[in-house]
Amino acid sequence: MKEKTEQMKEKTGLSSDRSKVKALCPPNGPCMDQAWLSTDRSKIKGLTLKYRELLLPVVLGLLIVLGATGLVREVFGIYIFTLAAVVGGIPIIIGAIKGLLRKNLNVGVLISIALIASLLIGEYFAGALVVFIMHVGELLENITVAKTGNAIRKLMDLKPKTARVRRADGEVVVPIEEVKLGDRVLVKPGERIPVDGTVLSGQAAVNQASLTGESIPVEVSIGDEVFEGTLTELGILEIETTKVGHETTLAHIIKLVEEAQADKAPAQRVADRFAKYFTPIILAIALATYFGTRDVVTAITVLIVACPCALVLATPTAVIAAIGNAARRGILIKGGRSLEAAGRVNAVVVDKTGTLTYGNPQVTEIRSFTEKTQADVLMRAAIAEKFSEHPLAKAIMSKAQELGLKVPDPSNFQVILGRGVVAHASEQKILLGNRRLLADHHVALSPEEEEYLAQKESSGETCLLLAENKRFLGVLSVADVLREGTAGAIATLRKAGINKIVMLTGDNSRTAAAIASLAGINDFAADQLPEDKVNTVKRLKEQYKVAVVGDGINDAPALATADLGIAMGVIGSDAAIEVADVALLGDDLVQATQAILLSRKALRVIKANIYAFSLGLNIVGMYLAIYGAVGPVMAALLHNLASLIVVINSTQLIRYRSKIRDVTKTKR
Ligand code: ADP
Ligand code: MG
Repeated sequence: MKEKTEQMKEKTGLSSDRSKVKALCPPNGPCMDQAWLSTDRSKIKGLTLKYRELLLPVVLGLLIVLGATGLVREVFGIYIFTLAAVVGGIPIIIGAIKGLLRKNLNVGVLISIALIASLLIGEYFAGALVVFIMHVGELLENITVAKTGNAIRKLMDLKPKTARVRRADGEVVVPIEEVKLGDRVLVKPGERIPVDGTVLSGQAAVNQASLTGESIPVEVSIGDEVFEGTLTELGILEIETTKVGHETTLAHIIKLVEEAQADKAPAQRVADRFAKYFTPIILAIALATYFGTRDVVTAITVLIVACPCALVLATPTAVIAAIGNAARRGILIKGGRSLEAAGRVNAVVVDKTGTLTYGNPQVTEIRSFTEKTQADVLMRAAIAEKFSEHPLAKAIMSKAQELGLKVPDPSNFQVILGRGVVAHASEQKILLGNRRLLADHHVALSPEEEEYLAQKESSGETCLLLAENKRFLGVLSVADVLREGTAGAIATLRKAGINKIVMLTGDNSRTAAAIASLAGINDFAADQLPEDKVNTVKRLKEQYKVAVVGDGINDAPALATADLGIAMGVIGSDAAIEVADVALLGDDLVQATQAILLSRKALRVIKANIYAFSLGLNIVGMYLAIYGAVGPVMAALLHNLASLIVVINSTQLIRYRSKIRDVTKTKR
């Protein structure tokens, strides 16, 4: 797992970058947000359209129209076409030479050879047209690629430019770069929160849809965490700044999406390698054609039609579109590699507590099996759980609070992973956990007690067994609710052909069975310690491509073992974001399902791009060229048509969204 985190850090450069920035900034001083923002902006420039890019195609088009009209054609045609070919051709030839100097035999080389050859044999019109079409094609591609970059721009637009800060001398509105850690920021209704921070005072409904894709606002009040870029809908908040600029969750996300879009999928590396051999092969075919037909025009036509431009575009356009689409909905796919892994998943493993269920269990019944009262039982349980972070502990503590119990600290406290807790208080040893914990300490249960447990567990409740000094005292039953939409997501996965869906839990098998059946899962493994979960995933990996969906903290080892780790509810948890291949800012299985189905769709698009629209059209084009069915002009058109189809095919991924079954029930 650590390895994977390291890998991830290396890949994203996150940690190193952060420490560098930290080293440059005084701990509490204003950070270099502006600098960071501006470099970031320039990074996405590649994804916006520049006017300069329009100039050349327009000029070339005008020249060609002029040269082709009536009288002008007869007198100046040759010169005008030559001019267009040279003006448009120079950038292409320069690019080709640059590539050659880097020992990269690129597509431009083929086009340049074709261009020069067509001018030499007097095909001036064809030469000009080839150049023109190349530039128009490039323009259209730029426009489409610019569209796919929108996800990042939209995220960047969420960054507020100013903040209202409370200073000794009153409220001042300052540029966001001047906000320091610890500053008290005020946010009014309808405003975006400009920093990550903790609520000091006030209460508000905050819409986090921009980050999580979750449209129901979250109620926040004193002590809650809030995030940059989210919107306060109602209420005023005073926030203590804990993160600014490039440290915020939003900044982190923008960075991840950028890096993800630049990450190459394995399929693309294959295409790259292919493109390297493509150029010499095509040169050879063109030469062979020349010696076969003794016709230069045919050979040039082959050169033009066979350029693998479409192949080069096939994967990156799809990857960028799909990752951008996901990011807009709070799904962070960590790059082309993760996208490909997600697209190949055919088994899904889900953790029970916190993943299938809300992970927010409530105490439903307290049962004493001795002369002690229910309050005695609860008190001992609460002492034992006081310092535990486990969701079950939270259920116990909130029940104790509800009943107004004053819970003393335990003198000694130990978590036994997957079993429970052991604590000491006033010279007594308290055990609280599952059967395994009690068995480890040789505490036996009577048949009557076992029967009570069996009945509780069959209804899906988790029983926490309490013992004191080896004496069994009682049971606290806890129930957790299945997340809305869970059953629908599971059904959708099944329908998509993912039939191996396994629930893992450290809970006992009866409770597990009850919850699994509610979710529509028939395959589960219960009583799983964290290392058992890892082994179960390993075993599954022998037969399947396995995705593990978990909360990223408790289940980090299993997530790291999977072919694809999907961590959910990661907003605010940088560690979880880093460990996972896919990080969900929201927290339901619906998003996980969307991520898998979108990735599948992306793989289908990439395959069609590569095999049908790039290689397929190329081969057909070459065939037609060799048999003289198309000339150089048609060849240029065909060649660009292929690139265009590829790009357009990829753009369907910008909006793609799969239908999750019975969404009506989920109300989300
Ligand atoms: P899951 O796999 O469902 O996330 P865990 O592995 O965290 O669950 O825990 C497995 C089981 O161990 C729980 O169902 C419970 O019986 C017991 N357990 C774990 N932690 C505690 C705790 N703090 N208090 C009581 N019981 C616990
Ligand atoms: Mg868990």
